[in-house]
Amino acid sequence: MRPWLGDAEQAAVAEVIASGWVAQGPRVESFESAFADRVGANHAVAVSSCTAALHLALVLLEIGPGDEVVVPSLSFIATANVVRYVGAVPVFAEVDENTQNITPATLGDALSERTRAVIAVHQAGCPADMHALHAVCDPKSIQLVEDAACAIGSTIDGQLIGTHSELVTFSFHPRKVVTTGEGGMLVTAREDFASRSRALREHGMTVSALERHRSDVPVVEQYLETGFNYRMTDLQAAVGLVQIGRLDAMVARRRELATRYVELLGDIDGVRLPRDPEHGTTNFQSFCVGLPVDGATARDRVMACMADRGVSTRRGIMATHLEPAYRDPAVALPITERIAATTVVLPLFHEMTEAEQDRVVDALRETLVAVRS
Ligand SMILES: *Cc1c(COP(=O)(O)O)cnc(C)c1O
Repeated sequence: MRPWLGDAEQAAVAEVIASGWVAQGPRVESFESAFADRVGANHAVAVSSCTAALHLALVLLEIGPGDEVVVPSLSFIATANVVRYVGAVPVFAEVDENTQNITPATLGDALSERTRAVIAVHQAGCPADMHALHAVCDPKSIQLVEDAACAIGSTIDGQLIGTHSELVTFSFHPRKVVTTGEGGMLVTAREDFASRSRALREHGMTVSALERHRSDVPVVEQYLETGFNYRMTDLQAAVGLVQIGRLDAMVARRRELATRYVELLGDIDGVRLPRDPEHGTTNFQSFCVGLPVDGATARDRVMACMADRGVSTRRGIMATHLEPAYRDPAVALPITERIAATTVVLPLFHEMTEAEQDRVVDALRETLVAVRS
């Protein structure tokens, strides 16, 4: 991944510095309304990361000790970590082989009497089938939170991700499509969730620093509950405002390059390529390819061979339940384990040229021949 940053972002940051207001302030406010407008949501609350947004989502739902939250193991580890932050227990669900997402079928035995919430991840940008997941969770009063860290610009039934659940979280880490360096967004239709999360991100205070600054008379704030410092800075928001204006161009270019990858790699035996699911479209945040190899050692050899040819790759999505922080011999998730061991992410970034893409394709073809012989 290479972020698409340019003169407009530089100028926007310079303007913030010249203004003298660099912490959370007017640009964060503007970024929030631009973001909410863009995804068609009522409220967007900017925070320091998607991890912070997910943590706040579980706090808003008052999930705590004694509760279980079902998450896919096949995700970045933050999805499980936030469950532990609130003292609840993450329970790992299997994923669908094609979309790498949870489905009603894969939730299976993960749901129990103690399940208070499910976190659905739109893995690598591929939208999970939220209509089907709501049909399972809503009748049981199980809250459904969307970890849309990777999925800005992806759609379900023609509608941008952000409004299919009451709480949806986004990331602006440079590995995602839209970046602010670090940053996240909590999107919600509920006014009470929006106002409480605005207080929670700012130490639980009743009046923000910006509101106090705007007042003609001295205002003394109160602290209603234990909050956090999860603020985004105006420096970051200024970058985000420029980036969100380019969302359509970013997604269109990624989809164009992904289509070209599918054309160029489609005939290689045993290689599995990402595609749109039936219910929506992906932003191809990661172009994650399944390799015809029998395990992680062979996959690592492919990555080393690609690196020898000057092409950088990354392993595909991790399996959280195999990490020391979560290892439990009682948990077996064969599809998750196979995907985690046999996938790689190929280079894909906005300014990638066709010649660069051809080099990646040639390197992968040569590597697979070399590794098989
Ligand atoms: C990147 C990512 C996160 C964490 O986002 P941060 O903004 O870095 O906290 C969480 N979940 C998923 C699925 C991710 O890909």
